[in-house]
Amino acid sequence: MSGGRRAFLKSGVAAASVALLPAPLRAQGAGPRVVIVGGGFAGGSCARALRQADPRLAVTLVEANPTFTACPFSNAVIGGLRELGAQQFTYERVAAAGITLARGTASAVDASARSVTLADGARLPYDRLVLAPGIDVRWGALPGYDEAAAARMPHAWRAGEQTLLLKRQIEAMPDGGLVVIAAPANPFRCPPGPYERASLIAHYLKTKKPKSKLIVLDAKDTFSKQRLFQAAWAELYPGLLEWVPLSKGGAVTAVDAATTTLVTDFGRHQAAVANVIPPQKAGRIAEAAGVADRSGWCPIDPATFESKLVPGIHVIGDAAIAGAMPKSAFAANSQAKACAAVVARLLAGAAPATPKLINTCYSLVAPDYGISVAGVYQPSGGQLADVPGAGGVSPANAPRGARAAEAVLAEAWFRTITAEVFG
Ligand SMILES: Cc1cc2nc3c(=O)[nH]c(=O)nc-3n(C[C@H](O)[C@H](O)[C@H](O)COP(=O)(O)OP(=O)(O)OC[C@H]3O[C@@H](n4cnc5c(N)ncnc54)[C@H](O)[C@@H]3O)c2cc1C
Repeated sequence: MSGGRRAFLKSGVAAASVALLPAPLRAQGAGPRVVIVGGGFAGGSCARALRQADPRLAVTLVEANPTFTACPFSNAVIGGLRELGAQQFTYERVAAAGITLARGTASAVDASARSVTLADGARLPYDRLVLAPGIDVRWGALPGYDEAAAARMPHAWRAGEQTLLLKRQIEAMPDGGLVVIAAPANPFRCPPGPYERASLIAHYLKTKKPKSKLIVLDAKDTFSKQRLFQAAWAELYPGLLEWVPLSKGGAVTAVDAATTTLVTDFGRHQAAVANVIPPQKAGRIAEAAGVADRSGWCPIDPATFESKLVPGIHVIGDAAIAGAMPKSAFAANSQAKACAAVVARLLAGAAPATPKLINTCYSLVAPDYGISVAGVYQPSGGQLADVPGAGGVSPANAPRGARAAEAVLAEAWFRTITAEVFG
């Protein structure tokens, strides 16, 4: 990555960080109430940034799970390079930062009464609501792929048990077996994720089961960081990893879990291990709150992250339709800080500033081989649009030392973002 690009991203971080506020109207403890649903990269970051923006705000974070299991680097768990424990974080430090934790699942939102209802019936009143529920699988959108099928053909697209299931299946597979990954059409969580996963599974197979083969069946003809991935595959995994695009019969139209078979218009692939990354939508509370449109995702005002469908509710992270911004943890964190600044200013009676946001997605192609794509975004034409000339991808012909340095940067990024949210 060039020095110029890094400098630009640094200035983007400053622009996205929380601004100083005019004095709020109410005293400490009786400040405006912000409820955030979802304690992942978006919701957790937003809660922390709100407390920093104005300690008098009463911030409540609703989270279903006592432990958060992070997806970034979960492909390294599947590839046998990392323990799942390194992905897991608790909320003690979040609570210590003065954020009220509501452990439970938000099941309904009453936007006119401004309250969130939890599955146990508890009601949380709010002045502003931030929804950050991540994704849900669109069960049934791919014929044959339901929750029972996921126990045979894991998606591993929400980290945890599914990650371990896929890892164990690959470990148990005899040498010479066929692993198939089905990659979905856009939009979906983590655009480079299926290809990083293919790389790290190929690395495992090359090292441990070299007679095996990996096929990626893709519902697209192009994908994130494609030239970099394909060059690395040709160098590191020739003959082992095959990518089949949409135009060559890559789109999976149905699955049969009983025989781990993936069906395309061009034929059937019976796999020893099948990883089906299915079509997705915003986490289901978005639909219950009325903020998801027919696409299943949530249209937002690009300057304020406020829902275009329901006033007083902001949507950030994977659940939002964020224009050119990809669905990544980095983007979720960036959006969270910008949204926190907006919400704090609105609650203080001030006009929100226009945000500038950044994203960098690192991928590992092998343990010591990292590549990245970066972008800078701003509201334009009703969407979050690319800032022309900013961002870019890792250079095509970089020496291996540069790839190794990017792998180190990737790990450093993960440590930094998880410390920011959970530390
Ligand atoms: C294999 C893989 C690799 C990835 N690698 C990277 C990477 O290298 N870099 C990167 O930037 N991104 C990466 N990502 C993408 C990243 O994980 C997501 O973009 C990010 O997690 C989105 O953050 P979020 O807060 O929107 O959702 P999440 O992080 O999923 O958080 C949502 C939270 O909301 C909670 N929740 C949902 N509904 C409710 C409810 N009704 N009540 C209470 N709680 C609720 C959930 O329990 C969860 O904790 C990867 C993803 C995958 C699958």
